[in-house]
Amino acid sequence: MNVSVVGTGYVGTTLSACLAELGHTVTAIDIDEETVERLNEGEISIHEPGLDGLVSAHAGDRLQATTEHAASAETDVTFLAVGTPAREDGSIDASILRSAAEDIGRAIADKDEYHLVVIKSTVLPDVIETEIIPAIEAAAGKTDGEEFGVAVNPEFLREGSAVEDFMAPDKIVLGTDGDERAIDLLAELYQPLVSDWDVPVVETGRREAAMIKYANNAFLAAKISLINDIGNICKEFGVDAYEVADAIGLDSRISEEFLRSGVGWGGSCFPKDTAALAAAAKSAGYDARMVEATIELNDHQPRRLIELLEKHTSVDGKRIAVLGLAFKPGTDDIRGSRATVVIEELLERGATVAAYDPRAADAMADEFPDAEYTESAAEALEGSHGAVVVTDWEEFAELDSAFDSMVDPIVVDGRRIISRRDGITYEGLTW
Ligand code: NAD
Repeated sequence: MNVSVVGTGYVGTTLSACLAELGHTVTAIDIDEETVERLNEGEISIHEPGLDGLVSAHAGDRLQATTEHAASAETDVTFLAVGTPAREDGSIDASILRSAAEDIGRAIADKDEYHLVVIKSTVLPDVIETEIIPAIEAAAGKTDGEEFGVAVNPEFLREGSAVEDFMAPDKIVLGTDGDERAIDLLAELYQPLVSDWDVPVVETGRREAAMIKYANNAFLAAKISLINDIGNICKEFGVDAYEVADAIGLDSRISEEFLRSGVGWGGSCFPKDTAALAAAAKSAGYDARMVEATIELNDHQPRRLIELLEKHTSVDGKRIAVLGLAFKPGTDDIRGSRATVVIEELLERGATVAAYDPRAADAMADEFPDAEYTESAAEALEGSHGAVVVTDWEEFAELDSAFDSMVDPIVVDGRRIISRRDGITYEGLTW
C-alpha cells in the first residue's frame, strides 16, 4: 500500500520504517527539515535499537521523507503521529495535532478518491470529535465518513524496544465506528503482522479506541505505583520487596510484569497520559482518585531516594553522583525521567551534581546546564560523597573498583542494578 506518516518522532519513525519493512511504500512527513534530510540519507535523530538498520535499508527506496504535507494526497492512508503534550494543568494540548489535521485537510481538498486519516497520536475522545475531525473537514471542505474517513489506531510500543513491539504487538486496536472502507484499508495494511504473529485485532468505536490507550497506560502506571507503595512499606519493615514481588507475580491474576519497585515511571507517555486522564475526568466533574494517587506516589519516589541518601549524609555542599538520566535504559529520551526530579531536588538541597548516562547526557545538559556531565560512571563517582542510581543501564552492574574512588562510598540504588558489596554503604530503595 501507499502510506503517509505525519510526524517522524519516536512513534512516526518506527511506524514509517516498520511499514516499509512490511512491504508498503511510505512517505514520512515532518516540519523539521533536518529530520527529513537525515531520514532521506538513511539516518535517524533518535536512539532506538534496530530502527537505524530499518531506516538505512529502506530510505530512498520504499521510505521517502518530505516537509510537504501535499504529498499525503498521493497516498491511500495518512497516519497522524505528532506529539500531544500536556499543559501545565495536565490537560492535553492538541494544538500540534490540530495543525497537522488542518495540513492533511488542505492536502486532500482536491483529491477525488476516498482518503483515510488514521490518528496514531494519543488523544482523548472528545478532542477527536470536537477539534481534530472538524479541523480536517474545514480545511478539506469535505465530510467525515463520506469523501474521507477517520480511524483511531493507538500505539502501544515502548521506547527502547519500539521496533520489536511494533512488529509483534500484543494487540492492534482499530477504532472505525464500523466504516467498512477504513476497516478494509487497515486490515490490508496490517495483514502481514496479523498473519505472522496471530495478533488479536480489536475492532471498536473511535471513542473507545482512544480511551483504550489511556486506560492501558493508567493501568500500567498504577501497577508500578502500587508495587512502589508496597516496596516503601517493605523497606520500613526491613523486607525485600523483590522477594515479595516474585511471589505475588506467580498469581496469574497479577502476572510478573511491571513488578520491579523503584524510583518510579517516566517517559513521554505515562506522565502526560495519566495527567490528561485525571484532568479530563475533573473537567467532567469526576475525581479520578486512583489515577491521581498513582501520579502522586510516582512524584514522591525520587524524593524518597534523596531522603534515604540524607539518612547517611547531608548532601548540602557535597558532590553527588547521579547514575542514569534517560527515563529507562535503551533510550536517549529524558521526557518525564525521574532523574529530572532527582537532580532538581539535589540542587535545591545544595549539592553539586556529577551526572552520567551513556545516551542521554546531552539532553539533560540542556535542562540542567549547571550540573557536571561525565564521560563514564567511574568519573562521576570519583570524589563523590554519595551516589544515586536512577536508570538501570546494564553497565552499572559491572561497576566495582569504581566505588573505591568515592570520598564516602554511599550508594542509594533506585533500580536494583548494583549488588550489595563490602566497602560501600548500600541502600536499596525498596529492599
Ligand atoms: P515526538 O515529539 O517524538 O515526535 C513528533 C514529531 O512530529 C516531531 O518530529 C515533530 O517535528 C513533528 N511535527 C510536529 N508538528 C508537525 C506537523 N504539523 N506536521 C508534521 N510533523 C510535525 O512524539 P512521539 O513520542 O513520537 O509521540 C507521538 C504521539 O504518539 C504522541 O501522541 C504520543 O503520546 C504517542 N505515543 C508515543 C509513544 C512513545 O513511546 N513515544 C508510544 C505510544 C504513543
